[in-house]
Amino acid sequence: MREKPRIVVVGGGFAGLHLIRQLEQRLRRDEADVLVLDRNDYHLFTPLLYQVATGELPPHAVAYPLRQPTSHAGFRFRRTEVQGIDLDRRIVITGDGEVPYDHVVVVPGSSANDFGLPGVRSNALPLKDLADAQRIRKHILGTFQRAATFREAADRKVLLTFVVVGAGPTGVEVASSMRDLMDHSLRPMYPEIDFAKEVSIVLIDGAERPLTQMDQRLSLLATKRLAQQRVTLVMRTPVSEVQPGIVRTRGGAVFHAGTIVWSGGVEMPALVRGLDLPKAQDGRIRVDDHFRAGARRDVWSFGDAAYFIQDGKPLAQQAQVAVLEAPRVAGNLARAVRGEPPVAYRHYPKGDLIALGRRQAGAQIGDRVFGGLPAWSVWRVNYLTQLLGIRNRTTLLTEWTLSYLSSRMVADTP
Ligand SMILES: Cc1cc2nc3c(=O)[nH]c(=O)nc-3n(C[C@H](O)[C@H](O)[C@H](O)COP(=O)(O)OP(=O)(O)OC[C@H]3O[C@@H](n4cnc5c(N)ncnc54)[C@H](O)[C@@H]3O)c2cc1C
Repeated sequence: MREKPRIVVVGGGFAGLHLIRQLEQRLRRDEADVLVLDRNDYHLFTPLLYQVATGELPPHAVAYPLRQPTSHAGFRFRRTEVQGIDLDRRIVITGDGEVPYDHVVVVPGSSANDFGLPGVRSNALPLKDLADAQRIRKHILGTFQRAATFREAADRKVLLTFVVVGAGPTGVEVASSMRDLMDHSLRPMYPEIDFAKEVSIVLIDGAERPLTQMDQRLSLLATKRLAQQRVTLVMRTPVSEVQPGIVRTRGGAVFHAGTIVWSGGVEMPALVRGLDLPKAQDGRIRVDDHFRAGARRDVWSFGDAAYFIQDGKPLAQQAQVAVLEAPRVAGNLARAVRGEPPVAYRHYPKGDLIALGRRQAGAQIGDRVFGGLPAWSVWRVNYLTQLLGIRNRTTLLTEWTLSYLSSRMVADTP
């Protein structure tokens, strides 16, 4: 009897998770063996990671166990570090041995990019995974504890300067949410600190405007809202170096800060860099309009790691792109298993959302851009419905309510 084709999925992020869910609907159980590999046993819901960093949500609210959807679908999951892929021998090399495949789906996402700037890795806090978010939260809380022991307001002022580098969606949401954490939860707890005079948040970027990848009207909305929240926006100012407690810019400006958060962009992880496949200039794997890598018939990629060109431009590295691509990739994999020809993908973006603090957000849906409470409601409902698992959704709803009515999680617990 002919063995079932083996599909190995490298990564259980937005691309991997939604692929599994789509494959469950498209493949009969006797048609293929599907194995998902990830270094973590959970899927990380990155759009809400900034809320873990700023004490609005506990870590487990944004981590969904990958064994749940895989076992439900009759697929297998293995927690392991993928070290490489031998494309000629059709083998995925992991920390726990070799895994043969007939089709491999390369969806390991992206890594934080320091652009080779000196001192970023050692002196700034990235926000890319769950450990990063917990580290930032601990750092903020520890900083306030320390500042309260300083006698001189001038010393407190330096320590209580929070610099966020990168005014993309993550940087904007972190800066805005930090202000909420400070104004609504920390201020009443620290009578010895003058929050209006001593605490400052600075958002720095080399671009012309914040949220450059989004509609200009959303940038404008965010700019106004950040000003209301007393977040100092420093645009057209590329950073050149980060030293302990110091951010230097190419133009010679120097910012002293007790906290430096880095959300400067993404690059390809070592796993992708090591693959002998056609790549774009930014290192992403070039895929055809069926999501196959180069001329290969057995290597597939989408999500952050893939360079999919539409109308002369690559698709953005966004969760919503990976989620929208997943059904077509699953369909094409099922067709490949059955020996049928693949179908081309066309991307139709759904719009953009940006959280801007308490009861404020920005939304772009079709030609409409709006802010305030309506956008905030759309934002909340959208993420509540996108998050998977009853436990995660219930935690989210409960913690949002508690953070809103009471205080955020401000005890310096592990
Ligand atoms: C803080 C933050 C906020 C964001 N907010 C938004 C947002 O609001 N909206 C939006 O659309 N996008 C957002 N994004 C972008 C979004 O997270 C990515 O576009 C999306 O996750 C890409 O999906 P992916 O499956 O390609 O990669 P990922 O979701 O990153 O998944 C990759 C998976 O592969 C695993 N992996 C990687 N390398 C290995 C290895 N060598 N061995 C084993 N496992 C490995 C990882 O553990 C991970 O589970 C945000 C990103 C960040 C960091």
